[in-house]
Amino acid sequence: MQGTAAILRLAVPVPLRRLFDYLPPQGLGADDLRPGQRYLVPFGSRDLVAVLVEVVAESPLAELKPAGERIDRQPIFDTRSRQFLQWAADYYQAPVGELYAAALPVALRKGKPADHWAEQWLELTTEGKGLPETALARAKKQQELLQLLLKTNRQSRTALNARGLNAPVCKALIERKLARWVSGPTAPPPLESVEPQPVPQLNDEQRQVIDAVPASGFSASLLEGTTGSGKTEVYLRLMERALNQGNQALLLVPEIGLTPQTLRRIAARFPDFRIAALHSGLADGERARAWLSAASGVADIVIGTRSAIFTPLPRLGVILIDEEHDGSFKQQDGVRYSARDLSVVLAKNADVPVLLGSATPSLESLHNALSGRYQHLRLRHRAGNARPPQISVVPTLHQPLQEGFAPQVLRHIGDTLNRGEQALVFINRRGYAPALTCDDCGWLADCPHCSAKLTLHRRSRHLRCHHCDYRMREVTSCPQCHSRNLNALGAGTERSEDFLTHSFRNFPVIRVDRDTTATKQALDKLLEPARNGEPCLLLGTQMLAKGHHLPKVTLVVIQDADGGLFSADFRAPERMGQLLEQVAGRAGRGDLPGHVLVQSRYPEHPLLQLLLNRGYGAFARQLMEERKIAQLPPMRAMALVRAECEEPRWAEEFLANARNYLEALAPSSPELQYLGPVPALLERKSGRYRFYIQITADRRGLLQQLLTRFCQWAEGNRNRRLRWAVDMDAQELS
Ligand code: ADP
Ligand code: ZN
Ligand code: ZN
Repeated sequence: MQGTAAILRLAVPVPLRRLFDYLPPQGLGADDLRPGQRYLVPFGSRDLVAVLVEVVAESPLAELKPAGERIDRQPIFDTRSRQFLQWAADYYQAPVGELYAAALPVALRKGKPADHWAEQWLELTTEGKGLPETALARAKKQQELLQLLLKTNRQSRTALNARGLNAPVCKALIERKLARWVSGPTAPPPLESVEPQPVPQLNDEQRQVIDAVPASGFSASLLEGTTGSGKTEVYLRLMERALNQGNQALLLVPEIGLTPQTLRRIAARFPDFRIAALHSGLADGERARAWLSAASGVADIVIGTRSAIFTPLPRLGVILIDEEHDGSFKQQDGVRYSARDLSVVLAKNADVPVLLGSATPSLESLHNALSGRYQHLRLRHRAGNARPPQISVVPTLHQPLQEGFAPQVLRHIGDTLNRGEQALVFINRRGYAPALTCDDCGWLADCPHCSAKLTLHRRSRHLRCHHCDYRMREVTSCPQCHSRNLNALGAGTERSEDFLTHSFRNFPVIRVDRDTTATKQALDKLLEPARNGEPCLLLGTQMLAKGHHLPKVTLVVIQDADGGLFSADFRAPERMGQLLEQVAGRAGRGDLPGHVLVQSRYPEHPLLQLLLNRGYGAFARQLMEERKIAQLPPMRAMALVRAECEEPRWAEEFLANARNYLEALAPSSPELQYLGPVPALLERKSGRYRFYIQITADRRGLLQQLLTRFCQWAEGNRNRRLRWAVDMDAQELS
């Protein structure tokens, strides 16, 4: 027992589910130690960046090492965010140190001090505050600066520069003793400046939705609103309400939803508020800046992808989740958290409203809405003048297809372009062809590391694995029999691009997939002609399904709707339905009517019929009935215990032992069921064989207790080549 005054209890980024005790660094007294600060601590042979969670009086350990160095004087995690991270660690059965690491942007995770981004702020003196807005009329720039400061109290040097109010203008005000520089926390990196847009008048449905969301206190609502019904406008109004109350607004968007177009729309609406955008396109330093500006309360609006849920927000007033059904809200490795589910927990902790919005809600959220746990809000009509698109199925069996397109579909595309409108063709595969085979000996190009075929990328002359990114040069003769009769099977976006470019020579064909849009800016640039309204043909993967508002698109073609109908993953039909509805929703968003053509080999399939005739809402409710019968989520809680290893036997054995251990604690019963070990849908990935056990339970609490015990058991696993993980509320069986 060590009974000294203060002991640091730290979250260290290692895969162990506990906190670690250290003595304070030399020279620091009890008053210097504040939870939420980072410390550099010796751990094994390394120094790691850890976060102080608690200061305690004694430790059960006899020998404690001193922490090396205190990084932050000011805590960077406030009390609420620390409680939230602990809650998430418990729920997802994850080491709390890894959660803190997931919460931090890279530069801060590496230990860069927050002071590095401290900022100079210009604020008005008492004298300056006493001036009327009309003062300084003879110096235009100075007056602009004065007015800005009168409205917003203070402005950072970077923000002023971005507005063209540079050093000489500031100096002039300072010399008149109207303003002064003060040092303060960082401001978010400035966004490109945009012209304010006219604000639309809300329609009745939108107004009802907004009125139904209480302005304060915890509430959770699902906004089920048709594509183009003005959900984003609802988010903007709810943000505005929070901002006017002096609060911060958090907007989470899917990975591919955080486009410059989205940012522009928000920046145009809120020119006087500080916006922190947290996305992967930022350099490390800029990202740290955005994060710190949110955590210190300087940023008013925070927009980010899933990890933004962990940003401390001291003035949080509302949380909005756009496209809440999107799979990217669930992290698929490391800590397997769902930002969407956590948003409801955070809203509860912060006592603020949360709104989950989608045209195609996840069955989880729909279940919560239908069972009354969430308030269920609807937008049934498209906003403005847009009408819902007309949808027809084109059967593709017994038809002469050209590169996968039925003749009437090609005719429709031609007519659309000739009318001066735009068409969008959705193909769910990038590359040239999903397989390459030898017509003489049957050789197939497989990935050497995965149980998957290589995709042919003709532009870059490569064969590529889409699971592990393995690449090899395109071969022109068969590696097995040297025949030159190689055959590219099936069509991806590159191949369709070739064909469509050739078929519609007078019109630009714009291919949008991960290969043509390495950056968000590239996507923005690529879509420019489409935004300008010129007739063009857009062709691409699901990147085209979301976020883009292209009013001149009047025809949407879904080349192959069958992918989700016959999968081993019980969520496949749900995802197919969401994707089809979202893609179809790109049609007719402006004044012109929209048309959707869906190609299928199984036009009579009941699920497809239901989706196309009655829409996603009816389709999802039907799927829910099926889940009820099959006793699957969202009716029951489900977790996977995963294991992967180069040696398949070890992974399988580990899981078989795990199951025995669990069943000894809680045998199978009608309330609790085990399945497996079974191989994952993609059995081998990056050289490792992957298996899982699936556990479903009536009660989440029971599942949690079991998994906690399991983690204690499994942390003793000594096989370093085997990786295991708990995947609570697993979304993918792959
Ligand atoms: P969603 O997010 O539901 O897909 P958006 O908010 O992007 O829909 O709205 C679709 C289009 O309708 C946008 O161009 C938007 O500016 C416009 N819009 C939204 N609300 C209204 C309204 N009340 N009146 C007129 N146009 C509107
Ligand atoms: Zn061959
Ligand atoms: Zn591979």
